[in-house]
Amino acid sequence: MRILLAEDDPHLGDGLTVGLRQDGYAVDWVKDGVAADLALKTESYDLLVLDLGLPRLTGMEVLGRLRGRGQTLPVLILTARDASGDKIAGLDSGADDYVVKPIDLDELAARVRALARRSAGRATPLLQHGEIELDPAAHRVTLSGVPVELATREFSLLQALMQNAGRAMTRAQLEASLYGWRDEPDSNALEVHIHHLRKKLGANVIKTLRGVGYLISKS
Ligand code: CA
Repeated sequence: MRILLAEDDPHLGDGLTVGLRQDGYAVDWVKDGVAADLALKTESYDLLVLDLGLPRLTGMEVLGRLRGRGQTLPVLILTARDASGDKIAGLDSGADDYVVKPIDLDELAARVRALARRSAGRATPLLQHGEIELDPAAHRVTLSGVPVELATREFSLLQALMQNAGRAMTRAQLEASLYGWRDEPDSNALEVHIHHLRKKLGANVIKTLRGVGYLISKS
């Protein structure tokens, strides 16, 4: 099991890395939000331990981008003792659990184990909506059993919408699923991808919510 640890405090980061490795986990440790965001986009992790107070991109921004891309890995946030609003905001933004600083290593290890158990059954499930089936692992989409050719960004967009079926996705969330932090999206690129997806999969699959974003309903 592979864990990404995002923590800028060198002593805490070092202690957590050592402690989690002793528990048998593979740990990659990054020290700022941009490095965390990049690692999450390019590597495969089973769990993210995320300090909310990170430089360059805050933990909340990292979390927003992660969930915006439709990535479902469990996230354990680390929050300051006096910031109870952070806990609520973090859980509302898609974190699964939290640990309050100063960190008790035994408590953190127990929460990591619990999240790992809970997520064991949901590794890359097939996504379905009506006659559309998306296989995240094989990077394959079929419509009524017939393979559909999608461009990379069309696939990412569809995956983000299907993983969040029933929830309105904002432009910013969807663009985060398509672009790296260096890329400047064209202002209408999202609409173009949506247009192509509708042509390939059916005009009514993706609904436009004026002033909000886009939605695939729960099938
Ligand atoms: Ca910090």
